[in-house]
Amino acid sequence: MNTDITLFWHRRDLRTQDNAGLYHALQSPHPVQPLFIFDTSILENLEDKADARLTFIYHYIEQLKAAYEKHGGSLLVEIGKPIEVFEKLIKKYSVKAVYTNNDYEPYALQRDKAIHDLLHQHAITFHSYKDHVVFEKNEVVKKDGAPYTIYTPYMRAWKAKYAEQAVASFPSEKGLKHLLPQDPLPLPSLKKIGFEVSAIPLPSPEVPVGLIKQYDKQRDYPAVHGTSHLGVHFRFGTISLRQKVKHAMELNATFLNELIWREFYHMIIFHFPHSAKDSFKPKYDTIVWKNDEKLFDKWCKGETGYPLVDAGMRELNATGFMHNRVRMVVASFLSKHLLIDWRWGEAYFAEKLLDYELASNVGGWQWAAGCGCDAAPYFRVFNPLLQADRFDPKHIYIKKWVPEFGTSQYAKPIVEHVFARNRAIATYKEALN
Ligand SMILES: Cc1cc2nc3c(=O)[nH]c(=O)nc-3n(C[C@H](O)[C@H](O)[C@H](O)COP(=O)(O)OP(=O)(O)OC[C@H]3O[C@@H](n4cnc5c(N)ncnc54)[C@H](O)[C@@H]3O)c2cc1C
Repeated sequence: MNTDITLFWHRRDLRTQDNAGLYHALQSPHPVQPLFIFDTSILENLEDKADARLTFIYHYIEQLKAAYEKHGGSLLVEIGKPIEVFEKLIKKYSVKAVYTNNDYEPYALQRDKAIHDLLHQHAITFHSYKDHVVFEKNEVVKKDGAPYTIYTPYMRAWKAKYAEQAVASFPSEKGLKHLLPQDPLPLPSLKKIGFEVSAIPLPSPEVPVGLIKQYDKQRDYPAVHGTSHLGVHFRFGTISLRQKVKHAMELNATFLNELIWREFYHMIIFHFPHSAKDSFKPKYDTIVWKNDEKLFDKWCKGETGYPLVDAGMRELNATGFMHNRVRMVVASFLSKHLLIDWRWGEAYFAEKLLDYELASNVGGWQWAAGCGCDAAPYFRVFNPLLQADRFDPKHIYIKKWVPEFGTSQYAKPIVEHVFARNRAIATYKEALN
């Protein structure tokens, strides 16, 4: 007879420590079998077979597996569409309950609903917990219960709520004796999953305290290593967000505000799932984009003749990372100077960014293009040359990525700034009036 078990399904929480869903699973009456699924409906859309995100995930899956094996359990790793994997697992094991952590993206909500329904038909309970953010869904809303759509009042309400209630911690690492005893399970190779190891270096989850303390002073200068590079760790939950928020509270208010931007965008994508594809403000979807493919290609390659834009795009192509200030400049340049639909840029970032996160990427792009919930006004068009003078005055960042800058080899601007600015304002105005 099969032992009754609880499955714990890892998704964006690839850690055993301070993991809310895992903590609750380990308190359930049955031994816990941890599970990770390489979701082929996501993997099929990844063109680059050396996608650095797969290398990142794979590395942390190996660590998870080793952590469980230290406690006499193991990690079950499956490849397939989650619904099909669950259909198979509930035949193979006597599953009594499935535990996981909440995911707020439109695809994830649909996936989880389908799995909940499948499990329900088999009298298996499905439990999902908040882990990826401090406050989710309707926890920080306006007095009338409506979601905030402007960051600053949201941030104030978020801080007031945080001050009024202690945020729990979930010492899941202490409950690992409740794992299903198990011989080590096989781990399919990265090749079997259809990918190769990426050469892009993976950022460390450790950040010097001094960097966070200096964050507000250094974060705007792309030549300085002044930001945490933790984005990918937050995305895949390889670190505890709750612990980082606690540190941010102690160390740097500006850093905390950025973590709240992250929560703001998660809340927005949950309440306004249409904004994953359409402009948050529908009128902006009447803008007549020029969508010139040749210019788009130059933007992608970092050959626009605007050095900060080119440096940013080359940094992205080479490392999977781009500094936030530069993300704002390149996104504004694409949507305003080139009048290319922000969705093209969003999709390119989605392909390249190691820290790609739908909620924040769409949020950032719509902010830059002006069509987002709390966006830059349409008539404010960043001057990419002035931005370079201000934030990279010695051209250290630019020269690192665009070595030919300042020589005759460097590309001429693909569009003239004043012309492009006026054209953008006129085009936006026409759509919005
Ligand atoms: C066009 C555009 C696209 C973006 N796409 C993404 C994306 O796909 N994924 C992503 O995580 N961030 C995105 N951002 C936000 C921001 O640029 C990155 O989070 C940040 O640059 C990551 O570097 P870091 O980890 O060193 O961040 P730090 O500056 O050290 O900040 C710490 C953490 O706070 C969060 N954060 C910081 N700034 C923001 C912000 N403006 N919005 C939401 N969260 C923030 C991130 O989780 C980040 O890791 C985008 C911004 C723009 C303008």
